[in-house]
Amino acid sequence: MANREGRRFVIVGNGAAGSTCAQTLRQEDPSCQVTLITDEPYPLYNRVTLPRMLKNEVPASRVFLKTVAWHAEAGIRFLPETRVARISVEEHTVLTAAGAEIPWDALLVATGGRPNRLEAPGGDALNCLNFQYYDDTVALSEQIEHSRSAVAVGGSFIAYELAEAFHVRGLDVTWLIRGPRWLRRILDEEGGALVDAIAAAHGVHVLHGQEVDHVVVRDGVATGVVTTGGHMLDCQLVGSGLGLTMNTELMADTGVRTGKGILTDRHLATNVPGIFAAGDIAEYEDEITGHHHLMGTWDNALAHGRVAALNMLGGQEPYVDVPTYQSGLFDTIISVLGVTPETLPEAISLTRCDVAARSYRKLFFNEDRLVGAVLIGSVKGKKRLMDMIRQHARLASEKERQALLQ
Ligand SMILES: Cc1cc2nc3c(=O)[nH]c(=O)nc-3n(C[C@H](O)[C@H](O)[C@H](O)COP(=O)(O)OP(=O)(O)OC[C@H]3O[C@@H](n4cnc5c(N)ncnc54)[C@H](O)[C@@H]3O)c2cc1C
Repeated sequence: MANREGRRFVIVGNGAAGSTCAQTLRQEDPSCQVTLITDEPYPLYNRVTLPRMLKNEVPASRVFLKTVAWHAEAGIRFLPETRVARISVEEHTVLTAAGAEIPWDALLVATGGRPNRLEAPGGDALNCLNFQYYDDTVALSEQIEHSRSAVAVGGSFIAYELAEAFHVRGLDVTWLIRGPRWLRRILDEEGGALVDAIAAAHGVHVLHGQEVDHVVVRDGVATGVVTTGGHMLDCQLVGSGLGLTMNTELMADTGVRTGKGILTDRHLATNVPGIFAAGDIAEYEDEITGHHHLMGTWDNALAHGRVAALNMLGGQEPYVDVPTYQSGLFDTIISVLGVTPETLPEAISLTRCDVAARSYRKLFFNEDRLVGAVLIGSVKGKKRLMDMIRQHARLASEKERQALLQ
């Protein structure tokens, strides 16, 4: 790839996507200028390790992946605690909240999402917390020390992580899920029942089909949760995993097209020349489905960061990957591959569930092509499924499709 003397690259957001982009730009073009901006006070840390930190399984020091000094040594201008307030396409600059103007020749927006707050009355009490940032983890951990019981709210992976961590830290836990089951768009009734059974075996009480009516607050502190189903739950901690709102506000007045996130093509370029998006915020055109969608995984953010960097340097690299998300599920694991009805509602599914063996396998097809899967318990055959999704393999007969469930 040809070097472009002194090209100025600016990256907003220092998560997995932004940091990888900065590092790749530096590696590929020693002469360029790279500025990496974040409103958080820290260098890159691993969000995926935060649940383990919350469970006291790893010390806080193990969460950090880079140091401030690393950036100086790598020749990356790192600006922590710096909020970007505006992007000017005409001037080719970003304007920080403190009033500094930073020029760019190419810009990456990797601003991710912010957690949705618990909107119910009382949801703003001091001990009603989200779980997205390092600082959230510290706050949750401190509150656990002063709690006997907790309520985890939400039907997402983050709500599960909270329920599990509260349990591991010795609290009495109620897990409140608004929908009929956890991951309601991905699992079906049988899968949901299996997850409930696994949670119950760990002493976590799961309540479905109801949400927080209000939080009982005394002197600014939550002392309980009343559910819409009429349950009164005493607690000293409420942890919410209610999804993310994407930080797209910077796109206002830029002409960049947005949906839930920032719309990009398969090269992670937006419709405005010179502006790219990567990671959780990128609503990218997916090779597998041909649709635009968001993908909130660590590996996706890393790979996006690299591809965006190559294209900011003038390349034409497409992003082609089978996204995967693997998580603990109390004493077993759940693995989600490819795309699911969350991003492809018209997907057709086949399921096999063995409650006694705690094994669940659900496959998603777009017409006769395997596009995704969810596995609980055994991940036998995962690599083969990944290969089939990647190769756009066609499975014309029902027999062939059923065979994949075994
Ligand atoms: C607790 C937890 C557990 C997870 N577990 C897993 C897992 O097991 N497996 C998995 O694959 N994924 C997991 N994820 C998801 C994964 O961590 C994310 O998909 C990934 O980190 C997203 O990276 P990103 O770079 O796109 O965005 P982010 O990491 O969200 O980074 C965006 C950054 O931009 C900053 N920012 C936003 N706006 C501005 C602005 N205007 N100016 C300056 N800075 C700004 C934000 O503060 C943030 O620091 C987990 C996430 C969490 C929170």
